[in-house]
Amino acid sequence: MAKTPVIKTVNLCKYYQMGKTTVRANQKINMEIYSGEFIIIFGPSGCGKSTLLSLLAGLDEPTSGEIIIRGEKLNNLNSTQLAKYRRTKVGMVFQQYNLVKTMTASENVALPLAFDGKPKRFRSQRALSCLEMVGLADQKDHTPAELSGGQQQKVAIARAWVAVPWIVLADEPTGNLDSKSSDDIIHLLKNLNKKSKRTVILVSHNPEYIKYADRVIYLKDGVVAKATGKTKRVSREKKPKSDLELLEIEPKIKRALKRAGFKSAEDLLKVRIADLAKIRGIDDIEAAKIQKEATKLLEKEGKLVSTAESFGEGEEASNIPSGDNLQKEDNLPNSDNLPGKDSTTPEDESLDKKDEDINNEV
Ligand code: ADP
Ligand code: MG
Repeated sequence: MAKTPVIKTVNLCKYYQMGKTTVRANQKINMEIYSGEFIIIFGPSGCGKSTLLSLLAGLDEPTSGEIIIRGEKLNNLNSTQLAKYRRTKVGMVFQQYNLVKTMTASENVALPLAFDGKPKRFRSQRALSCLEMVGLADQKDHTPAELSGGQQQKVAIARAWVAVPWIVLADEPTGNLDSKSSDDIIHLLKNLNKKSKRTVILVSHNPEYIKYADRVIYLKDGVVAKATGKTKRVSREKKPKSDLELLEIEPKIKRALKRAGFKSAEDLLKVRIADLAKIRGIDDIEAAKIQKEATKLLEKEGKLVSTAESFGEGEEASNIPSGDNLQKEDNLPNSDNLPGKDSTTPEDESLDKKDEDINNEV
């Protein structure tokens, strides 16, 4: 199974109409960026780097084309979902730091959490740990005016990390800094990327940074001129072998169970014997044997779960084959006992369910 990109763009275009002239800031940009990558978008001033970042951040709408975040089209999100995406899935670092001048470092870092209704104690603890992460815990009560440029940018990086985003977008973050502070910032971003496995997309026109990137996407006049480096797309996730394979039952019965939508031994214990026996090619005796074998296997693995009788409301039903599927494949009558469809997720949570595989540290 190939990995799902964190970000994929398909023929992404952004045009600006300036009187009679059309400025093609981004033209047919196709890219796939994978979890944990450190990507540099490189190109001269005016080639469309900032435009691309604001599209990826959901701050601006494309003229045409798609942005797909972990398999979900950004265009399909409603305004509440989009706001949540910007607040919790994307961390941004800008050239001008964009800190609130009247707030302390700690308050600036905690700000994205305030919009998300997190309790104050949690916000300040999380802000402090992010300030520690960038080496500025001692400066937590300083306002931006009391910090150097490099320190202000570190506060902005801590702020970008505070909501545990999927993607950190940094637009020329060293543009206002001397070379020592610039190196510090790039090393910090690189280290945080490595440690937290968060995807970082850095926009720059400085060729010295290229060596830090896993991949470089070169933009020229709004188009991808070339891309270098090896994408993580080639690394494939090892598909876990289903424990259905391990059951001591005939292969043709296994095939029938798979066709009916069962994916694991655990699933087999979540329906009644009578329902298993409704599947084409399986009778009552075979159905009883299937459940006996599944029980044996799960006991052996120490993961015996509740049976159909105790499978009640509120149980996690996400990996269970749907009753619809059983009916379609095997012409079964509707049964209350067959596992139902996945419980629906609230709309604005739709991106959240993809959080499972994300490392929540840092
Ligand atoms: P970069 O970040 O690589 O310097 P930008 O993305 O800022 O480039 O700009 C790409 C092109 O789009 C430039 O020609 C710029 O003038 C134009 N552009 C950017 N933003 C706007 C805007 N809001 N209105 C009109 N033209 C814009
Ligand atoms: Mg720019």
